[in-house]
Amino acid sequence: MEQYNYFNRYLIKYNIKAHYFYLKANENLLIKRLLTRETCSSCSHDYIMVSTQIKGNCDICKEKTYKRNTDNIEDIKKRFSFFNETSKKVIESLGEDIINIDTNYYINNLPNLFISKLNNLLSL
Ligand SMILES: [Zn+2]
Repeated sequence: MEQYNYFNRYLIKYNIKAHYFYLKANENLLIKRLLTRETCSSCSHDYIMVSTQIKGNCDICKEKTYKRNTDNIEDIKKRFSFFNETSKKVIESLGEDIINIDTNYYINNLPNLFISKLNNLLSL
């Protein structure tokens, strides 16, 4: 919240209008995604291993993928707890200024969702 307040004072001082995106997802789905996530050791592309991608190699550069040390249930729950204690207050304080994006079903289509939301903002 302190970081947001600092940022908000900066926006007011320089008369800048900011838009905020909140990627909403069910915690159980996020746990499933994080527990199956692998990252490319070369290009850092992330993979959620529920697709048809062959486990162990990057589709883009063909290098080995690896599982992050922090993608385990204990660390994931700590991250959720930290988020709920800190960032959630900021999100709630933004009220109507926040643009929610439901990522429960659309994870592979996120870039297109962002483009769509940005186009809506620009046409206002
Ligand atoms: Zn790669």
